[in-house]
Order: sequence, then C-alpha cells, then structure tokens
Amino acid sequence: MGEKITDGQPRTYFDCDKCPAFCCAIYERVQVTKRDVNRLAKHFGVSYEAAEKRYTKIDRSSGERVLRRKQDTIFDEVCMFLDQEKRGCTIYHARPAVCREYPARSRCVYYDLLQFERNQQDDVNVLPLVQITFREVKEK
Ligand code: SF4
Ligand code: SF4
Repeated sequence: MGEKITDGQPRTYFDCDKCPAFCCAIYERVQVTKRDVNRLAKHFGVSYEAAEKRYTKIDRSSGERVLRRKQDTIFDEVCMFLDQEKRGCTIYHARPAVCREYPARSRCVYYDLLQFERNQQDDVNVLPLVQITFREVKEK
C-alpha cells in the first residue's frame, strides 16, 4: 500500500514492497464510499452502477459496502485488486480512501510482526500467517 519515501515525507518504519500485503488480506471488509466507487468507475471507464456491481458488494454482517475479494495464493482470501505475485495494489491511484490512510502512523504492526518472526525463526523467508477478527465485548 505504501509509497516510496521521499524528502519532506514523514519517516516510516515499514516497507510495503517487502511485505506480502497483510492489510489487503486480513481485513475482510475494505469499506468503500460513493467517492471511492466514483474513482473506480473513472479508473476503469465504466458507469458508477457498473463499478459498484463489479468491484463492490454489501457485507452481510455490517451492512457496509466493501471491495470484493478473491482466493489467494498465500492467505485464504485477498482484495480482488491485489496482484498475487508482486503483492501490490493494481489500482494504486484509484484505491479507496481507507487504503490511502492505512496504517496512519509511522509503524505498521504487521510489518513489525513479519520482521519479529523472521528474527525469531532465523529465517528471512518465513511468513507468519495471521488472521484478525473483531468481537464486541461489554465492559463489566
Ligand atoms: S501490512 Fe503494512 S507493510 Fe504490509 S503492505 Fe500493508 S501497510 Fe504495507
Ligand atoms: S484496493 Fe489495493 S490497497 Fe486497497 S485492499 Fe485492495 S489491493 Fe490493497
């Protein structure tokens, strides 16, 4: 998801080019707004309705409009726009706002996890396959 860091940009401690794209895989819901659908429609040269139908769906549990997903070679599923070999976004300039903002801090926890496990396992090629789910719990 990230861009190359150039002078003037805040320093970051992760390198998306060296990551299998956890963020495009482990979140089942990548939320899209009307503006995001418009951007997709423009990018692919199709109508708003066609873009909405082809690239998004309504998530049953949350009722949100999200990007469609597909089977992956590493994780169970990933965003339909991930290049599964290069592990990069195929619609970088047309990606949704949530993708642009992520991880919204100087560190990426999944990149840290990757480096941590590669050190722990003493293997520069090992991939920790993690999944994340969210559950509401009531405070006692
Ligand atoms: S999980 Fe983090 S390091 Fe990996 S592609 Fe996403 S933002 Fe980049
Ligand atoms: S649109 Fe691109 S950056 Fe966003 S989840 Fe899909 S592949 Fe990743």
